[in-house]
Amino acid sequence: MYSKKTIKVHVELSNICNAICPQCLRNYIDKNTGELSVRDALNTHELTIEDYRQIFDNEFFRTFHLKRVNFCGNISDPIASRDLQEIVEHHIINNPNTQIKVATNGGLKSNGWWREFGDLLSHVKHLVSFGIDGLEDTHSRYRVNTNYNKVISNATAFIEGGGKAAWQFLEFKHNEHQISEARALAKELGFEEFKHIVTPRFANRKTNKLAYTFRGETFVLEESSKSVSTGLKSSVKSGHILCKALDDHEFFLDHDGSVYPCCWVAQRKHDHELLQYHDNRMNAIENNLTGILTNSFFFDKLEESWDTKPSYSCIKFCDDENNSRKDKYVFRE
Ligand code: SF4
Ligand code: SF4
Repeated sequence: MYSKKTIKVHVELSNICNAICPQCLRNYIDKNTGELSVRDALNTHELTIEDYRQIFDNEFFRTFHLKRVNFCGNISDPIASRDLQEIVEHHIINNPNTQIKVATNGGLKSNGWWREFGDLLSHVKHLVSFGIDGLEDTHSRYRVNTNYNKVISNATAFIEGGGKAAWQFLEFKHNEHQISEARALAKELGFEEFKHIVTPRFANRKTNKLAYTFRGETFVLEESSKSVSTGLKSSVKSGHILCKALDDHEFFLDHDGSVYPCCWVAQRKHDHELLQYHDNRMNAIENNLTGILTNSFFFDKLEESWDTKPSYSCIKFCDDENNSRKDKYVFRE
């Protein structure tokens, strides 16, 4: 599937995160109590620097030109990984032209750590996106269990250290009036970019509201006025798949070493029929990554499925007529 020399990777370094965002896959709202809770079997595993060196070996760097590594994922914050700095260094040593992207809630680690991280990244092309969903009075309504002032001081230390930062603002009804103030503050603090995102996740629900209880208090999240859920719920599909992973030459590496085409299929929520072909031959700790990318039974089956019976995720995210890809709802400034 990945026949071109230039390639990108999206990495889930662990299953660890400090935040409890109500619409994140990690978390759920208890049907009986309304309590916002973290799912079981999380915060247990991460890719180590040893795993990482084994996966991204000399053969990989000889075969592919790695254009970008994006430390983001479905269920983790990359800053929670103990070996993150060494992992980043592994990329810098093997290809100083690889762009390093990181998405974080910014709530972990000290100012000193962030200053050092800014200095490390200042030598290469990079961007770290901080999820800051409002100002002091609104940020934690969605980014639960993180502290606005700590996030801002970490981001500022990172910028002072030489890092390039983006402010990523998830827009809801309770914070949409603060976008212009946040944009001005981002500029003042030295963020390179400000982007706000209208989340399509309310399309998965009957209503565009979500109530939850956290530490004895009840909160309500409501979709922003730029509602996208109604259109998505009634969207008509063409049946023609335009695979984003193939188009971007990007693959997804999970924290157990498994290789997937993208973060959507890696969620393993709905694509059971397709995933019956995904076995330990797709694990890059046990098998050679270059071999997986250039010649694998699973990727052959995936490509075949687009013409015969596309999986749930492929239809939802990559139908060329109507899809619910987050990147459609990002406003960059
Ligand atoms: S910060 Fe990211 S991984 Fe952590 S709970 Fe929020 S959305 Fe999920
Ligand atoms: S959802 Fe399917 S079509 Fe879209 S990027 Fe992933 S594998 Fe490709």
